Amino acid sequence: MSKKINALRGMHDVLPSEIGYWQMIEGHLRSLFQEYGYTEIRTPMMEETRLFTRSIGEVTDIVEKEMYTFPDQNDNLSLTLRPEMTASIVRAGVQHGLFYNQTQKLWQIGPAFRYERPQKGRYRQFHQADIEIFGIETPDADAEMLAMLARFWKRLGIENEVKLEINSMGTAECRKVYREKLIAYFEGFKDQLDEDSTRRLYTNPLRILDSKNPDLNEMITNAPKLLDHLDDESKAHFDTLCAQLDILGIKYVINPRIVRGMDYYTRTVFEWTTTKLGSQGTVCGGGRYDKMVEELGGRETPAIGFGMGMERLILLCQACEVSANESSPLLTTVFLGEKASLQGLGLIEEIRDEMPHILISANLGGGSMKSQMKKADRSGAKYALIMGDDELDKDIVILKDLRTDGEQTAVSRDELSKFLQNNL
Ligand code: ATP
Ligand code: MG
Repeated sequence: MSKKINALRGMHDVLPSEIGYWQMIEGHLRSLFQEYGYTEIRTPMMEETRLFTRSIGEVTDIVEKEMYTFPDQNDNLSLTLRPEMTASIVRAGVQHGLFYNQTQKLWQIGPAFRYERPQKGRYRQFHQADIEIFGIETPDADAEMLAMLARFWKRLGIENEVKLEINSMGTAECRKVYREKLIAYFEGFKDQLDEDSTRRLYTNPLRILDSKNPDLNEMITNAPKLLDHLDDESKAHFDTLCAQLDILGIKYVINPRIVRGMDYYTRTVFEWTTTKLGSQGTVCGGGRYDKMVEELGGRETPAIGFGMGMERLILLCQACEVSANESSPLLTTVFLGEKASLQGLGLIEEIRDEMPHILISANLGGGSMKSQMKKADRSGAKYALIMGDDELDKDIVILKDLRTDGEQTAVSRDELSKFLQNNL
């Protein structure tokens, strides 16, 4: 035997035993997105590297160390597997003129790639559900997006397991002033900063606020807050959002340490976190990025969006014992003898014609009565449709109840659909 080849580290197969959760969650998301007027967009998984460096920012974890980047085969191009979806969606919108004088509400679900140390809730290929609204500057867009998420948690029955934290990143101008204050503050603790934070001090000091190092906790908690340095318009925007959330009855905590991992955010930023997943507790993160469309060559277009980690959401649902989609067959088959097996094949297709959308898991591969009955028991079907030459001659089938008492009912071919319909 040759040596077997396994999947790459941090990249997972979704097996049939797990797919029910994915389908359940994707089903909820698809209908929710539609109910709120979003349409689907599908962008390529690979883009030019400079799309991400320009939008996410050079001095961020993602661009510095997490991107899968490699040269293209022919041209002098550097390619990157998307580490997130927002940049690609903006690129697509600018390229195809989707933002001219119109609002766009878009969604996408698919894989993203980051070179990180794999652990529970952190993978190298993971999946995001992503939402973006383009063309609305006012905070009602932010509020509606958060209301949709609140509704989503409720539908899953996990509304008590997630917490909303919000902050405002203001504008580039007010951040410039704040940045200097922050540098001056952290310079006072230079000997206490860890390696990452020391490196970030002059390149991207706001990132230090995001540090998960407990040793820096107190210093960060006492640092000057961007919320105290907002320009009047950003302050009003944030206050209005808070008032709207209050009206909607959506609970939130204002957390000045939420700065998010990308440079493109302006004003509102938010995270939904849970305590059920250890340090990978952020299930969903997003915010406003009113300048990105312009930076990527489009007309100035305000925008807001979020990315939700599908794997983390599934782990959370499992931890909360949310039930997954399960579909078990209504029918399986036991055909005995050559003639019945041949005719049975046609019979099943006729039933499918008469009753579309029912699940029939017909026995394939034949076998003895005993082995077919064993397979039928294992199939999870409600009924075994049994037919031998004798039944064939009489134009009947036997329906054996596999779930309850094993009762067998002889049903004529003409009455079969009616019987099944009544016993769905
Ligand atoms: P974290 O702080 O956990 O690294 P992040 O801030 O890098 O998260 P975002 O870039 O905001 O994450 O991505 C949005 C969501 O995608 C996250 O909230 C998380 O649920 C999910 N996510 C991000 N990176 C990974 C990963 N490597 N594996 C699984 N899910 C991830
Ligand atoms: Mg990260």
